[in-house]
Amino acid sequence: MISESSLEKLKILAGAAKYDVSCASSGTKRGNTQGGIGNATAWGICHSFAEDGRCISLLKIMLSNYCIYDCAYCYNRKSNDIPRTSFTPDEIANLTIEFYRRNYIEGLFLSSGVLRNPDHTMEQMVSVVKKLRTEQRYNGYIHMKTIPGASQQLVTEAGRWADRLSVNIEIPTENNLKILAPDKDFKSVLEPMKMISTGILESKEERKNHRNAPLFSPSGQSTQLIIGATNDTDHTILKLSSALYTRRDLKRVYYSGYIPVNSYDNRLPALSAPPLRREHRLYQADWLMRFYGFRSDEIVNTENPNLDLDLDPKVNWALRNPHLFPVDINTADPMMLLRVPGIGTHSIQLILMARKHQRLNSAHLKKMGVVMKRAQFFITCNELRSQNVQDLKPEIVRQLLLDKKSLGSDASVQLKLFYPMTPALR
Ligand code: SF4
Repeated sequence: MISESSLEKLKILAGAAKYDVSCASSGTKRGNTQGGIGNATAWGICHSFAEDGRCISLLKIMLSNYCIYDCAYCYNRKSNDIPRTSFTPDEIANLTIEFYRRNYIEGLFLSSGVLRNPDHTMEQMVSVVKKLRTEQRYNGYIHMKTIPGASQQLVTEAGRWADRLSVNIEIPTENNLKILAPDKDFKSVLEPMKMISTGILESKEERKNHRNAPLFSPSGQSTQLIIGATNDTDHTILKLSSALYTRRDLKRVYYSGYIPVNSYDNRLPALSAPPLRREHRLYQADWLMRFYGFRSDEIVNTENPNLDLDLDPKVNWALRNPHLFPVDINTADPMMLLRVPGIGTHSIQLILMARKHQRLNSAHLKKMGVVMKRAQFFITCNELRSQNVQDLKPEIVRQLLLDKKSLGSDASVQLKLFYPMTPALR
């Protein structure tokens, strides 16, 4: 049974957790055990965000929204006059089990404000997760936010029970972090990250020798960066993400457009809405770094420090490097195919297989899922005699790509003047 008082707290503490986007699918492989409850499946937990920010399939909750810190960008900062409450570890463990049994949730995402000090808060959070695993025999997914500044012993204990740990950096540069969150510094965030990556590595090594050696945060670690609360450029942000993927072995960096919850604070920019387009472009750039082999400085650099909000980062890179195009689909190196706008990893696999048996043309490419409206300016393939980025010049291709109408089914007169389309492309 869920008590009335737990439900009251739930209203407050689930609402307070909605600003954290750093929870996502698991990737953990843990089946149910005899007499246990739940499992964390290999394909992870599907989740989505409702209109009001709720994460639907994870119970996304704070242990407490009391906080001794006063981070300028945070709804739960100590100087805000909002309803406050805390759960006990038993209450959260019971809620999770009750919700799991009723099929409301598939996992738990647990965060908290800082109560008394980082270690005291972490002890309470670890206690929730340990209770779930040992007393309730719960095998479902658990993502726990690590409190910056928590001790190694508690981080190690957390990693033993949770599937994923995350420590939020929030602000991409230390100077700006100091201005907006004077109680935090980079060390307090980066140290636990280092402990987590070391723990994950050691656990993997041990399991090579002993199959039953304990797992440590088997679904890895992630972090969140707030975008647009400071003047940090996309260059700075992506350089930091790239370093985190390499040195801290992070699974994901989440980019969260700054939500102007404390507009009265003049350290913050006057935004009427979160910068969602920028957030989207950062996710695209991040994808290019993780799956397409792009370095951060190829996407943005000191001359072009911010992502183009109108065109995706791969198209932008191609327009800045016209000398590398057109790419011949029938002979190009796979790494170069990856860099062609409009061609994704799945299409590349199909292209590589198919071109062993025949010369590919644009009709084949369309069937394979290549977005010809973009790719046509950057490739040659068999019969395709389109004008490419070198013939047309990047500025004109940019204009053509921006001018969606001219690329629609009723191609305009202007497009035909610059670019005689082949029937296969219409
Ligand atoms: S420590 Fe976390 S909960 Fe506390 S004010 Fe800062 S961001 Fe908010």
